[in-house]
Amino acid sequence: MSLAVPANANLATERPTFVTHLECSLTGERYPADQLHGLSRAGRPSLVRYDLAAVRAALGRDTLEARPTDLWRWRELLPVRNLASIVSLGEIETPLVPIPLSGGASVLVKDEGRLPTGSFKARGLVMAVAMARELGVTRIAMPTNGTAGAALAAYATRAGIETVVFCPDDTPEINVREIALQGARVYRVNGLIDECGALVGKGAAQGLWFDFSTLKEPYRIEGKKTMGLELAAQLGWRLPRAIFYPTGGGTGLIGMWKAFDELEQIGWIGPERPKMFAVQASGCAPIVKAFEDGVEHAERWENAHTIAAGIRVPKAVGDFLILRAVRESGGRALAVDDDEILAATEDCAKRDGLLMCPEGGATLAAYRNALTEGLVQADDEVVLFNCATGLKYPMPPANDRIDKDAPVDLAKL
Ligand SMILES: *Cc1c(COP(=O)(O)O)cnc(C)c1O
Repeated sequence: MSLAVPANANLATERPTFVTHLECSLTGERYPADQLHGLSRAGRPSLVRYDLAAVRAALGRDTLEARPTDLWRWRELLPVRNLASIVSLGEIETPLVPIPLSGGASVLVKDEGRLPTGSFKARGLVMAVAMARELGVTRIAMPTNGTAGAALAAYATRAGIETVVFCPDDTPEINVREIALQGARVYRVNGLIDECGALVGKGAAQGLWFDFSTLKEPYRIEGKKTMGLELAAQLGWRLPRAIFYPTGGGTGLIGMWKAFDELEQIGWIGPERPKMFAVQASGCAPIVKAFEDGVEHAERWENAHTIAAGIRVPKAVGDFLILRAVRESGGRALAVDDDEILAATEDCAKRDGLLMCPEGGATLAAYRNALTEGLVQADDEVVLFNCATGLKYPMPPANDRIDKDAPVDLAKL
């Protein structure tokens, strides 16, 4: 078997990538790889395309399975050219944790809270920062509800890239402090994430920094794609019946959908797909509304509010890509109330010992509702995404005390 070496392989320190070009997700217009890109000319996300026939010839499943199970085992399907560009903090494969009591016998949680900086934003940002470094970026700005900013700060600081981060002023305190401690300049803004994004866009237009907003640069999606690749490998090269994904900007859902397509094209899985359920909070559900209205683009959600900060995204630039994937898969976009989110999160922690973040709790709440409505069956294997550790969020108080100097009836504790 001959290793297909793409034409753009040149320096000894660089490895060949299988990237052929970038493509506008709306119009299909092509852009050359190895150059810095933001949104396409049509103002939509750019997608990375690969020579999948060459990947298929170069990489066998057995070769992949012999590698360590981290994110970099997928390198043929990733864009990084120069391995020295990667700043790794240990991007492990995350476990599938059963939650038989709060979920059911066929429910698995992909627990992304185990990744560096405690969230799956690490997948996207480790990739985007490596590519920014490769393409000579020295200053990055980003709007964030917390977790993305923390991952950016960690990786960019380590890569020697300056970062400026804007977050809504009610972003969970621990995230803001984490961002600052990991070396970014972080500012609280009296607005929502899209309004923070407008500030980032303004500065980028003035040439002050590179805009790292969700889906505005092409490589975060490639990092998030590894969730789908990993899932297929973990389940023995098949996919679950349904995936419940907490949807803000939708990078992960779009990325997984792309991953499944690429896996099929390299012949590792068949045409079957899971039903994709995009889960939002009822206080911020633009994708659910667009899904129900049968339209391709979502309108901005006014007065967005939910305790699940990671999915409080009033307007998503990749809305049509989320909606397409959900519709093609035969899934649905579902909204859940904050009290359902809290109840599900608590139930999972108390009965199954797994502390999810509220966004993860939202997927469990949505799964329960889907079961009641008959959208999934109890014996369907489903995967819920817990995208961050529950430790990043406020928890209910626990204030019971004991006076060690007074008599204590230990049998009553
Ligand atoms: C960012 C985030 C989400 C939403 O992810 P997208 O792929 O941007 O839709 C969900 N949960 C948590 C904890 C997040 O940080």
